[in-house]
Amino acid sequence: MTQQVQRADFDKVMVPNYAPAAFVPVRGAGSRVWDQEGREYIDFAGGIAVNSLGHAHPALVEALTEQAKKLWHVSNALTNEPALRLATKLVDATFADKVFFCNSGAEANEAAFKLARRYAIEKFGPDKTEIIAFSNAFHGRTFFTVSVGGQGKYSDGFGPKPGGITHLPYNDLDALAKHISDKTCAVVLEPVQGESGIVPATQAFIEGARALCDKHNALLVFDEVQTGNGRLGSLYAYMDYGVVPDILTTAKGLGGGFPIGAMLTTEEIAKHLAVGTHGSTYGGNPLGCAVAEAVLDIISQPEVQAGVKAKHQRFRERLNAINEKHGCFAEIRGMGMLIGAALNKDFAGRAKDFMTESAKLGLMVLQAGPDVVRFAPSLVIPDADIEEGLNRFERAVAAVTGK
Ligand SMILES: *Cc1c(COP(=O)(O)O)cnc(C)c1O
Repeated sequence: MTQQVQRADFDKVMVPNYAPAAFVPVRGAGSRVWDQEGREYIDFAGGIAVNSLGHAHPALVEALTEQAKKLWHVSNALTNEPALRLATKLVDATFADKVFFCNSGAEANEAAFKLARRYAIEKFGPDKTEIIAFSNAFHGRTFFTVSVGGQGKYSDGFGPKPGGITHLPYNDLDALAKHISDKTCAVVLEPVQGESGIVPATQAFIEGARALCDKHNALLVFDEVQTGNGRLGSLYAYMDYGVVPDILTTAKGLGGGFPIGAMLTTEEIAKHLAVGTHGSTYGGNPLGCAVAEAVLDIISQPEVQAGVKAKHQRFRERLNAINEKHGCFAEIRGMGMLIGAALNKDFAGRAKDFMTESAKLGLMVLQAGPDVVRFAPSLVIPDADIEEGLNRFERAVAAVTGK
């Protein structure tokens, strides 16, 4: 018999590194989710920009179940058809010639940083190891990636950190120009900083970073774990900016909810991860790759990408209208289905309150730091769900602002 469990059990049996919401979801369909009590929620959180096609999308359910009947896991001592098909489609759709699969964003970045170091050391000598990253960046929670990330609160308190990492202010091209040198092996950035508040890179910063990397033989690494896979309206954010990186990492939306990560790069760079230099037991497993292939087929469609841009406008207009009435946002920002409503001074630090009130009214939203309410819904969320979700959000805003 199935054992009855509830939210209170979390505090008894789980390591206390998370503080989950008061309700426990049990089922989802499209952009709606139901909890243990049968209460319905509209999902503007998307599992933190992961459920790119909502919940239980029929094409994904079919890809997963068909593959589940055939082959789940073989290890990388063998290759498999779904991995080869997915890699071929990613190579055809992007700048990349080669793909490395793993299971998460952190692993994709771990692979990218190790590859950048190895490439530079083998090609230019042992002193070219500096990684330049940016304040408030988020690149994952392994010790290397969290150290490259630019938030001390996540990386402090675990003892000595990996060295050779420099943090500069984001969107500050002068600082980068002053600091970068021939000892720099890589510059890594998020095209839109996600976790720290939905802060897009300026066009000048991205273009300038590309030029400086070329000048100093440093690799430009785009962390597209959150911005990739159609989230901003193009397949990858580098396409929106028209600036091609040397290495691109992605995860989150790629599997639509099945854990998978990928690192994409060129032939010339990829060859420095020769046999035995890096690996993963599960990376590129048939189940994950079969689902991601189905995701990629759908998010590559021009109608889906045009829909993301149209839905962005719909969100932006309504959020601006809500703000005119309730006066709580300093700015609505972001691109595509990655939107941040930055709170003004009067509501500084209260993003969590907006999240909690929304949940009470049947709406899942996210925060991105203490001052920004984040929306990362399905790329194919129906317009009617956007309307109803924003109706609920307006009621939550009214509750928090008392207006
Ligand atoms: C979420 C995220 C990561 C980490 O991904 P995990 O799958 O949690 O390891 C890395 N970089 C960015 C930009 C992210 O948003």
